[in-house]
This record gives sequence, structure tokens and C-alpha cells, in this order.
Amino acid sequence: MPTYIYKCELCQKKFGIMHPVGKGPEVCVECGEEGGLVKERKVDQNVVIGANRYAVETKSTKERVEEHISKSREELRKQKEELEHFREEYRP
Ligand SMILES: [Zn+2]
Repeated sequence: MPTYIYKCELCQKKFGIMHPVGKGPEVCVECGEEGGLVKERKVDQNVVIGANRYAVETKSTKERVEEHISKSREELRKQKEELEHFREEYRP
């Protein structure tokens, strides 16, 4: 499921939220108001899906897959840091 960065024009805050394609939030998670949300951009979450798939595969192909998992985790960590950066930057 993709994560999107939204900005609320009512409270001017940005936040990341995960939701299915075509189904966005209607209410701001920061101020609770409707109608102020603008989708800014999408954060690629293929890394997350990949990590889950590899986790299942480890039962049969453990060693080969461990390298992929560590790479995925590293990328996931970077993306999380990016989201944290948004939170910190736009909080009052
Ligand atoms: Zn708001």
C-alpha cells in the first residue's frame, strides 16, 4: 500500500498516511477538519511489500534471501527517516 504525503491547507501541517490507491483521507489527522487536504506526493512503499514477501520466503530459501531483507530494511529505514523529517519540519 502506498504512503502519501498530505498537506492540510487549514492548519498548514504535513503528514504521511498509508492508504489504498484512490482512497484518501477526508479528515486532517492533525486538526480534524474536512476539506483542507491536498495530496503532495507519493512515497514509494515497494520496499515494504518486498520485505514482507521475502520474510515469507525465508522458510525455504533463508540464506539467499537474507541479503535482500537487510537491503530492504536499510531502504525502509531511510524512508522512515524521510517521513520523520517531514513531521519535525512542519510541527510548530
Ligand atoms: Zn489540518
